[in-house]
Amino acid sequence: MLDKTKQDWGAQAAAIEIEGRAFINGRYEDALAGETRASMSPADGRKLADVASCGTEDADRAVVNARAAFESGVWASMAPADRKMVLVRWAELILEHADEIALLESLDAGKPIGDTTGGDVPAAARTIRWSGEAIDKVYDQVAPVPANCLALVQRLPLGVVAAIVPWNFPLTTTAWKLAPSLATGNSVILKPASNTPLSALRIAGLASEAGLPDGVLQVLPGPGGSLGRHLALHNDIDGLTFTGSTEVGKQLMRYSGESNLKRTFLELGGKSPNIVFADANLEKAAAFAAIAVFYNGGQTCTAGTRLIVEEGIREQFVEMVVAQSKKWMPGDPLDPATTMGPMIDAAQLNTVAEYVDIGQAEGASLVTGGKQIMAESGGSYHEPTIFDGVKNSMRIAQEEIFGPVMSVIGFRDAEEAVAIANDSIYGLAGAVWSNNINTAHRVAAAVRVGTMGINNYFGGDITVPFGGFKQSGNGRDKSIHAFDDYTELKTTWIEFE
Ligand code: NAP
Repeated sequence: MLDKTKQDWGAQAAAIEIEGRAFINGRYEDALAGETRASMSPADGRKLADVASCGTEDADRAVVNARAAFESGVWASMAPADRKMVLVRWAELILEHADEIALLESLDAGKPIGDTTGGDVPAAARTIRWSGEAIDKVYDQVAPVPANCLALVQRLPLGVVAAIVPWNFPLTTTAWKLAPSLATGNSVILKPASNTPLSALRIAGLASEAGLPDGVLQVLPGPGGSLGRHLALHNDIDGLTFTGSTEVGKQLMRYSGESNLKRTFLELGGKSPNIVFADANLEKAAAFAAIAVFYNGGQTCTAGTRLIVEEGIREQFVEMVVAQSKKWMPGDPLDPATTMGPMIDAAQLNTVAEYVDIGQAEGASLVTGGKQIMAESGGSYHEPTIFDGVKNSMRIAQEEIFGPVMSVIGFRDAEEAVAIANDSIYGLAGAVWSNNINTAHRVAAAVRVGTMGINNYFGGDITVPFGGFKQSGNGRDKSIHAFDDYTELKTTWIEFE
């Protein structure tokens, strides 16, 4: 599949059939009110499809279906070994349709086709397969109690779960939410981001084909402010899992408190520190410093946007990272050679441009980039951009920009590096680069984040938990720990006569 050329992908894109209807109770259906929203290509601004825009009445019927499916036990009470087979088959079907799903994701989100074929689609399939394969291997507990008693501690599904996901990794975040929530026996209603509903809609049909019973998974595209809010306030939804901005995450916690205290788990924003000591492998560190910010156009919650560099090498290292940044000039997402695509839309491009102005006004030094390019394409492309001489108190070091903008901050010793790294409302991810094992471990242990790399960035896979400290969220996606977000612990205490 990687042998396809830009022309091949273009031809496939011209012929692709896009499903834009909601997936409700095992069927594709229009929104009850007949509302639609145009899904636009970030690459060139053309319309890809009209997509159902669901309202509160669609949410209500989906909740009724989900509740009925849950209460019937058709999925929740299915033997774990049988649930496993459905999820494994679903993962296989995703891989059988890998090119089509990768293309949908690239068209909808503007992601380079090399990323979606090599990353998003296989990773989503692996997430679903891994969670499915785990469920007949996870045991509950018998507690150490007096001999005349037996105490069982069991994990039970929450019931009906709503999942709300963002546009930056539409398929990946969808898989991170659906795999463990379905594996543990819940019925799930997914609301994709309005910008990127297409891959989730496509894989929902494949789940049905794999044998997932009707009503167990439903996908409702629609606006966050109305549909998403309604789901979050719904009294017959037991759990809410969310990936998105810290601002909306806080709102969802309020909705939970105002309604039925539904279990609410959040994966939110970040402003991650990437700390480079003079004794590191600087070639590798410079390459990864660029990957950490420019991959996915910086529209990555874990982006290493604060490059914190030991003063003695700062000047030299910034030059090396600037050289690396040239490899990330944006291009057509359907060209397999493209490393960075467009921003998701004009509003996001505008946000990036505003922060470039803010950085300059704050006195940081713009060493490369800073401009929109390829405007004639109709897409929202922005150059890789690096600011040096940044103070951690500046807005470009404190606020999540969600674009290809790096802030370089100098430090004198390890204590100062850690203090800078931790001076943030966020605590999602970070990395430290050093060939001194003591420095690397000491700094890694002291930085308050959910995932820390030593001599790598973006390390990890489905086997390890993912999530944030502080205002980067609570709960965890991925690994067996994700099952905790979708289950209640129940104790059954038995006394013998
Ligand atoms: P967002 O604006 O918070 O939107 C995320 C989702 O929430 C979308 O589906 C959105 O719907 C919906 N939504 C918006 N307002 C809502 C409300 N009042 N009630 C219920 N739902 C609502 O975030 P985004 O701009 O799509 O994504 C970027 C953010 O996600 C960044 O902050 C990034 O760091 C974060 N993120 C975090 C992780 C992680 O794992 N920690 C991973 C990826 C992204 P609409 O699309 O209709 O607005």
